[in-house]
Amino acid sequence: MLDLAQRMSRAKPSAIMAVANKAKALKAQGKDIISFSIGVPNFLPGPHVYAAVEEALKHDTGQYGSNRGPDALLDAFIKHMEQIGLTGYGRENIVTGDGAKHVLYNLFEALLNEGDTIAFPVPYWTSYVDIAEIVGAEIDLIPALAEQNYKITPQQLEEAMARKPKVFLFNNPSNPTGMVYGPDEVKALADVLVKYPDTWIITDDIYNRMLFDGVEYTNFIMHQPALRDRVIFVDSLSKTYGMPGWRLGFAAAPTVVANAVVTLNSNHITNVSEMVNAAGVAALTGPQDVPKQKCREFESKRDLVMDVLNSIEGVVCPRPQGAFYVFPDISCAFGKTHGPTGQAIANDVDFCNALLESKGVACVPGSAFGAPRSIRISYTCPTPQLQPGMDRIASFFSELS
Ligand code: PMP
Repeated sequence: MLDLAQRMSRAKPSAIMAVANKAKALKAQGKDIISFSIGVPNFLPGPHVYAAVEEALKHDTGQYGSNRGPDALLDAFIKHMEQIGLTGYGRENIVTGDGAKHVLYNLFEALLNEGDTIAFPVPYWTSYVDIAEIVGAEIDLIPALAEQNYKITPQQLEEAMARKPKVFLFNNPSNPTGMVYGPDEVKALADVLVKYPDTWIITDDIYNRMLFDGVEYTNFIMHQPALRDRVIFVDSLSKTYGMPGWRLGFAAAPTVVANAVVTLNSNHITNVSEMVNAAGVAALTGPQDVPKQKCREFESKRDLVMDVLNSIEGVVCPRPQGAFYVFPDISCAFGKTHGPTGQAIANDVDFCNALLESKGVACVPGSAFGAPRSIRISYTCPTPQLQPGMDRIASFFSELS
């Protein structure tokens, strides 16, 4: 038997996809399943996006495109950044990829040697660990558990930065917790980061337009402009514009980093499809009514989900202010048994399995995000399924003893 490369022993398939596939299989068997598992926005982009693709098809050049992305798309993204307060970027700072995940993969390749350290808060988005392991980086986790609203403190950041990681990775608003660091909190962290010039900073802020309760998005560089030389801002069309399958992501970075990713693109994807690029320009520059309306819808869904979670004794759930996830600490269920099925619940995986099998509700175990006391609920399912799905969770808790 011939060997695969050693890095493949460190590569694993996405844990979230595994849950989503299990729910899909049960549905295919005719089971009544409500899926709160995969992080998809569950809406389609506006008609102007489809019209732009049709127009692009008429003018297809039949050629390869730019490894960085076409000028019209880079300019559209620069404008989008200006609207959220990130100014002063030129085309030379921008690079595109097949979704933010691909951009992050490229950035890890570009910045981390084997054995270099990347630091980030836990709970984290699963792929951070998966990709870091593939590139052979060491991971330094900064704990941000439910008791501290899933946010790291400046003191914790100070300690982590003193260990001199090559990269600090920050995600705001957060997947899986939905928590948002407000301007004061971002500033306090920026004041720490500015003291440690040897660390690159990636801000994966793909949910930057999905904010509730009037909270504003800010980035470290708005508070500490000197950080511009080290901060890499990552964004995506997937969630904001209802386009996860279209695959278009971005980074805005110091030129040396943007160019490095362009070089990597030139060695694998060459370019994002021209049709997708045209769709991206239309999404970023066209009417914003669909994403705005969806954001309001998610805010009211968040309220519904929180009302149910708050009514369950023992469940602790910091109130999210962005994205479309909640991340309740359900550890009060550990050590109990689900009466009707007799299933013992020792941990988050048992909890999710028992919930799926007995109530047909699919959630992702928190251990996929490094936080095994919790589960992730992604609440973008059609509105008529949301209340019944949450009621089934409440009913599941009431059957534990
Ligand atoms: N970062 C975070 C925090 C995410 O939640 C996701 C998607 N779940 C991504 C990056 C990747 O997004 P994309 O679809 O653009 O690859």
